[in-house]
Amino acid sequence: MKKSDSGGSSAPRAEELRKEIDHHSYRYHVLDDPEVADAEYDALMGELIALEEANPSLVVPESPTQRIGAPPSGLFDPVEHPTRMMSLDNCFSLEELLAWGARVEKGIGLPDSYVTELKMDGVAVNLVYRDGRLDTGATRGDGRTGEDITSNLKTIASIPLRLRGEPLTVLEVRGEVFMPLRDFAKVNEGLEERGERLFSNPRNAAAGSLRQKDPKVTSQRNLALIIHGVGRAEGVRFRTHSEALEAVRGWGLRTNSENRRLADLDEVYRFCSHWAEHRHDVDYEIDGIVTKVDSIAQQDELGFTSKAPRWAIAYKFPPEERTTHLNDIQVHIGRTGAATPFARLEPVFVGGVTVSTATLHNEDEVARKDVRIGDTVIVRRAGDVIPEVVGPVPSLRTGDERLFSMPKTCPSCGSDIVRPEGESVARCVGIDCPSQRIERIFHFAARGGMDIEGLGYQTIYALITKGFLEDPGDIYSLSKDQLLELEGFAEKSASNLSEGIEKSKKRPLANLLIALSIFHVGSAAAEELAAEAGSLERLQEMSYEDLVAMEGIGPVIAASAITFFSQERNIEVLDKLRRAGVNTKGERRDRSGPLEGQTFVLTGSLEHYSRQEAQAAIENRGGRVTSSVSKKTGYVVAGESPGSKLDKAESLGIEILDEAAFEELLGS
Ligand SMILES: [Zn+2]
Repeated sequence: MKKSDSGGSSAPRAEELRKEIDHHSYRYHVLDDPEVADAEYDALMGELIALEEANPSLVVPESPTQRIGAPPSGLFDPVEHPTRMMSLDNCFSLEELLAWGARVEKGIGLPDSYVTELKMDGVAVNLVYRDGRLDTGATRGDGRTGEDITSNLKTIASIPLRLRGEPLTVLEVRGEVFMPLRDFAKVNEGLEERGERLFSNPRNAAAGSLRQKDPKVTSQRNLALIIHGVGRAEGVRFRTHSEALEAVRGWGLRTNSENRRLADLDEVYRFCSHWAEHRHDVDYEIDGIVTKVDSIAQQDELGFTSKAPRWAIAYKFPPEERTTHLNDIQVHIGRTGAATPFARLEPVFVGGVTVSTATLHNEDEVARKDVRIGDTVIVRRAGDVIPEVVGPVPSLRTGDERLFSMPKTCPSCGSDIVRPEGESVARCVGIDCPSQRIERIFHFAARGGMDIEGLGYQTIYALITKGFLEDPGDIYSLSKDQLLELEGFAEKSASNLSEGIEKSKKRPLANLLIALSIFHVGSAAAEELAAEAGSLERLQEMSYEDLVAMEGIGPVIAASAITFFSQERNIEVLDKLRRAGVNTKGERRDRSGPLEGQTFVLTGSLEHYSRQEAQAAIENRGGRVTSSVSKKTGYVVAGESPGSKLDKAESLGIEILDEAAFEELLGS
């Protein structure tokens, strides 16, 4: 491709494309009213990317191609907000809301109007635009200083990198970043498939996604931003809050279309009671209504208390709770054997869904809440997708209620359920527990693992019941005749499943490692193990020392992997997989370099290197860093105030390097 330094005649076209893309992005993400099909948008973006790649000098920070440009950062720098972000006073009933209104009207007489806004249950952020370009985006923090999350915010499509219209020298706006409910469900599905911890509600998901060290992850989370206030707008004087929001919309930022300008408290009251009943009509979580006095002059007249403005109040919806009958407390055995008590409820409609089971977390929780079988219980679903039992209604007890105790044996396999001293989780210890087996095979075949299409829960259950499946290794010796024996299976579905099984043999090593359900090994650890070991065979041979030397593999994961690979039964399963032709090889990370084959131990602190930097310097040259000294250790690098590792190295006669010698070795 021809490169040109100045960009030359491509510059006007790039600017044109940026404008066009910004415009369509605004129509789509802010107005929710796209003018062009996705494919057309993609074509414009493709042209701009190609143009910028050919002429790197054309790339400007506000280009739509730069939304995911920033590299991962370890820490978020503190950033001071131009104007303080106040919090609002809360009230928890409509009576209190009316009392607030009465205070306002006593203070300034009847306000010209009120503005009511849906209170998004998200993460508060502050954006600063300078000369129309996004300069910084930060979390709220303590209201004066937040954390700089600009790179992550730039990935959110409803945040323009460049404002529309005449640019102000400084514009500061605040709003709420949130995750739409449909995206929340999708994110959790993905996490579940990978065997990772789920987000308990959309707000946690938004916060977790915003604080990702890698903006790429944030960009995949489909966050959105709604602006609800202006901090500073250099050179502009608004008469009303609603006028400010209108201007914000004109600049290309998204505001909430459900906001209303209302004449009096009666209307405010009706608005609030309407939304308390209809909070699930929108595709995001709201937890209340914010009411503000619209006129800025009247706001100024009312002023502030020490904590909050007098001209605004947040009415918080009551959490959604219903009472129902607790029919039974049962125990679910997960794939690691964890026995989790859960409530079987008389179905009840709460928080927009019908709930018939609710988690009770663990044995201690049941005791702490004093929930008994047969109780009338309060069930809550406040933001949380997983409903929970808040507690019993003791006044409704008849005396027939029974206390729950963790069963001594597994309901599925009859093995002991054991709860180790000091742990909150009880586990079934049976090696052949059908419940664990179903969960593990299901996990093995799930999308994050071997991704075997057509091998769902029902089919696995049926195959186990027929005696065709004992462990994941058996999947690959299932015959078509066996599949045809299953209820609901015909020629077509059987051959589809066979095909899916065959295809899964080519899955990457990391996915195979995820699929194996090695305790504590999630996707990140699996990727690391695969890249370092390069093959399942090599991984099986690795020592604890080898494992903890890897980035991101701590003692817990290492010990768990060692235990896993030392079980005869597991080795059998792995052999079965290998014999069936399942891929056990991966791309091994390149370890060649001048320090290849050398093992280092670091102790004490170095002047010019952090621990991570020293480790990276060694690894980049092909060496390895382990955590403890043994005869196999090549060098011990000793900095200021070294620990007992130095003594051990001396006693074993291992070469010890001070910082200068270490640097010399790196340089050679
Ligand atoms: Zn069991």
